[in-house]
Amino acid sequence: MARKIGSRYTAHQILGRGSAGTVWLGEGPEGPVAIKLLREDLASDEELVGRFVQERTALLGLDHPNVVSVRDLVVDGNDLALIMDLVRGTDLRTRLDRDRRLAPEAAVAIAADVAEALAAAHAAGVVHRDVKPENILLDMQGPLGPGGSHHALLTDFGVAKLIDIPKRTRTTKIIGTPDYLAPEIVEGLPPRAAVDIYALATVLYELLAGFTPFGGGHPGAVLRRHVTESVAPLPGIPDELWQLVIQCLAKAPASRLRASELAARLRELLPMLAGMPPLEVDEPDPEHGEAAPEEPDRAGADPAPHPVPRVRRGAVPLVPGARPDSNRDTHTSMRVPAPDELAGGAHGTARVPRPTGAPRPGSARARAAARRRRITLTVAGTALAAALGVGAWLATSDDGSTDQPENGTTTSAPARP
Ligand code: ADP
Repeated sequence: MARKIGSRYTAHQILGRGSAGTVWLGEGPEGPVAIKLLREDLASDEELVGRFVQERTALLGLDHPNVVSVRDLVVDGNDLALIMDLVRGTDLRTRLDRDRRLAPEAAVAIAADVAEALAAAHAAGVVHRDVKPENILLDMQGPLGPGGSHHALLTDFGVAKLIDIPKRTRTTKIIGTPDYLAPEIVEGLPPRAAVDIYALATVLYELLAGFTPFGGGHPGAVLRRHVTESVAPLPGIPDELWQLVIQCLAKAPASRLRASELAARLRELLPMLAGMPPLEVDEPDPEHGEAAPEEPDRAGADPAPHPVPRVRRGAVPLVPGARPDSNRDTHTSMRVPAPDELAGGAHGTARVPRPTGAPRPGSARARAAARRRRITLTVAGTALAAALGVGAWLATSDDGSTDQPENGTTTSAPARP
């Protein structure tokens, strides 16, 4: 079923659905394109349309081999469409769902591609704000890169910022994944370029480990871990690579590397990682995340090539009672929960791969250890709730501050809870 988009484009078939709308395979005067048709409620919002038109230059301006370029913007009746380069392949989330974790060389090559995209964006004064596997597309028609990796392209530049206006986020309680949120966002500070570096380091960790460093369980607990927890080294990870990951997961934004430096450092590591198999990482202890339902008894069955994850991963509702995130909604539309919600999170520690010799989940030893941990966490949680209460208050007070990316270009105000 073909659909006309403006006078120059025709949408032919749906390629995928995202939080902001539907992406179509389409045709334009210069050949095939991807057409992102924004959701009706977004397209009928005059203020939002105005912002898209106003930011047209920034949206259309990014031209880089690792960025999915927006070629045109169509405002036509009720349609608001972004015309983008067509990437023939899949997104990184789909790849992760299939392979669970990648060999370090391929993971690092993909992260280096994304870091290069970010370097170009940050130099142009654009902060992405929504770096996550769903927004990284893999070109499966081009030549293969290091470790058999596909060329990676970052998409959805600037869209999060445009959709995430304070009015909208105050009135809606949209759900999404908090796994990639930098601690300074949790604390209500403006999202500057370093938030993208933190999110990319989280993606890289996830590609290597098969799970994000701070995800799992109640979203309030996830946000709290971003602020208070540190990550344990992944078993078998080369130290040089681990040092890069933790530097970019630093709580202090200024301690993280800049995108161009991260890209260069990642590329330097590639020869050393050649041929290395995926890391053997145990699923995190379910006590540290939300346990998935027990596997059916597999006695006598051959071991599965990819064991069933014991921890449910992916998005969880940020607002109690909200439905789980079925459409991989953007985290930038989330509100920061109130201190009591943060304090009430189920699990307080970052997910740590179970070290050899550690008690098995559910054993008497594990339960005793958990009791001891719970006492410590109650104290820590109360202190954090008090600290975040101050942060949330500061974030809601209308100080008229603007986001100042690295190069000093002024962009929009940050999301306010
Ligand atoms: P989200 O809003 O959740 O970030 P998108 O709306 O950007 O998701 O994309 C939804 C899906 O559409 C993607 O997962 C991908 O499969 C497909 N897609 C998005 N952009 C493109 C593109 N430029 N070329 C090909 N497929 C795309």
